[in-house]
Amino acid sequence: MYLDNNIFFTTLDLMPQVPLNIYGLRGSEYSILIDTGIKSMRDQVLALCNEIGNVKNVLITHVHADHIGCNISVKKMTNSQFFSAGAIPWIENMETHYLEFCIPSEHLPDSKEQREEILGLMEGPIHVDATLKDGMIFRPGNNIELETIAIPGHKLEEVGFLNRSTGDFFTGDILLALAAPFFHGFQSAKAFKGSLNKISKMIEGGAIKRVFASHHHPLNVENAISAIRTTEKFLDEVYDSVLIEAKGIHFPALWKNVCYRMNKQLEFRGFAMLEAQVNELIDDGILINDNGRLFRK
Ligand SMILES: [Zn+2]
Repeated sequence: MYLDNNIFFTTLDLMPQVPLNIYGLRGSEYSILIDTGIKSMRDQVLALCNEIGNVKNVLITHVHADHIGCNISVKKMTNSQFFSAGAIPWIENMETHYLEFCIPSEHLPDSKEQREEILGLMEGPIHVDATLKDGMIFRPGNNIELETIAIPGHKLEEVGFLNRSTGDFFTGDILLALAAPFFHGFQSAKAFKGSLNKISKMIEGGAIKRVFASHHHPLNVENAISAIRTTEKFLDEVYDSVLIEAKGIHFPALWKNVCYRMNKQLEFRGFAMLEAQVNELIDDGILINDNGRLFRK
């Protein structure tokens, strides 16, 4: 579907209150697709590519399954160059993707169901043609100046794309899907806060006028600021909950208690997120790890 400013999109309800939006930009020289959705979106993603026409570059915001699911079909149909900012093995090798994403620790069991669920979101591996760097600009024509902006946090190598000529900012999961029943988390709380701050400043300075996030419908300035504040509140709640629960227990127990406290499912995303949070607090001297028992200093 066409929006405006040469922006095309397709959308799906991933979970209750969690949309998954895929955006493309039509240039006069070539077109750009940002992320490829999940495997079951194949027909609509290919229809989007047809509608935009002449897709030559696919830019990946980050390598989670719901952003790279139709890579093979898009590659086959458009023969595009694929760009990603990092964690490239997660695109090029599905087993690496699964093990590093879903089994962050020996405390977490593997299961056939989990394997099928996560790997079932993606068609399979493709080769990544080039690495995205902060500041890299794409000029596909129609006055589009799409600048790559590093926004680490949810994934360390996550990037967004800002059309400097319109102020339209395309981003993956820096605005989290907080309605998910599991922790839609982060790899670094500190970097996440820094990235949200960076986006806030770009909005205040007028560089960003609208935000197109994967799991939110298009946001004007006011709604974007509100979504940023909500995400910051979530980060604060995780931080506070970890400190409250660090009463001399081991990490797996702390993980369970924080999930219970914040009403989230016990699964791998929350495990990895809380491990990152605990490690940051230890590095900052706020938590102590005494033979595996976690205390507040
Ligand atoms: Zn993600």
